[in-house]
Amino acid sequence: MARTTLRGRLTWQTAPVSRVTRETATVVTIELKPPDWPGHRAGQHLDVRLTAEDGYTAEREYSIASAPGEPVAITVERLDNGEVSPYLTEEVRAGDELELRGPIGGYFVWEPGDGGPLLLLAGGSGVVPLRSILRHRRRTGSDVPARLLYSSPTLPDVIYRAELGQYHDGVQVSYTLTRDEPPGWTGHTGRINQALLAEAAWPAEANPLAYICGPTSFVEATAAGLAGLGYPPQRVKTERFGATGGQ
Ligand SMILES: Cc1cc2nc3c(=O)[nH]c(=O)nc-3n(C[C@H](O)[C@H](O)[C@H](O)COP(=O)(O)OP(=O)(O)OC[C@H]3O[C@@H](n4cnc5c(N)ncnc54)[C@H](O)[C@@H]3O)c2cc1C
Repeated sequence: MARTTLRGRLTWQTAPVSRVTRETATVVTIELKPPDWPGHRAGQHLDVRLTAEDGYTAEREYSIASAPGEPVAITVERLDNGEVSPYLTEEVRAGDELELRGPIGGYFVWEPGDGGPLLLLAGGSGVVPLRSILRHRRRTGSDVPARLLYSSPTLPDVIYRAELGQYHDGVQVSYTLTRDEPPGWTGHTGRINQALLAEAAWPAEANPLAYICGPTSFVEATAAGLAGLGYPPQRVKTERFGATGGQ
């Protein structure tokens, strides 16, 4: 049984694209209907494989943006000089097909039974698996308190802004803008540093459970910051999207 499940997850399958939603100028969410999907956990990812006409292939990992029980979706940010993300963000349409395999990953996942309080730190598109966690929390009726601190270059770059604005019950969402702030902005500015973490994070005494996701440099800086606040390493889960990003 376990072997069958594993083989299923590691096997490529062709999934029709059921919907493409533009989130920001550079980001889209792609909803997929993989024919053979065992279900996923909040925080997992999947692999996408593109094949060119000459047979050249490129594979990339994408976090699953939807909660367990919801249709499978990924949210992709376009990197202008990228190989795969410009295709996914600009070319893919509903009715197309994408090759994928998954779900993958058992470490960067959250279940209500894991408890909290939850501290979610997002750098740019690193918010994607954290959105799945927040949705899972809501769908399961969990009352674990959660704080999301989301670092974005500008306000229009914030992904899922409307959705994140609807959380109230036990979820606090705050932003820090690193490049440009709109007139009258009262939120945080600048990169997440020790002072901001000390202000926005749960105190270590509350035994919080932290999930950090974003560009590698973002993850490393914020994980070090949480260690400085006394968070034990086993309570800090990290997911690196690669490169340094602009956070
Ligand atoms: C576990 C995991 C989950 C991921 N989930 C998501 C997701 O939910 N949404 C999403 O948009 N991306 C996600 N990524 C990143 C994604 O896998 C690709 O790396 C990204 O889409 C760039 O691919 P590309 O082919 O367009 O760029 P490439 O051709 O691979 O790279 C182009 C240039 O951009 C740099 N670069 C590569 N990756 C990044 C990055 N993440 N940030 C900044 N610069 C980069 C490279 O160093 C290179 O210079 C995830 C990565 C991992 C490991």
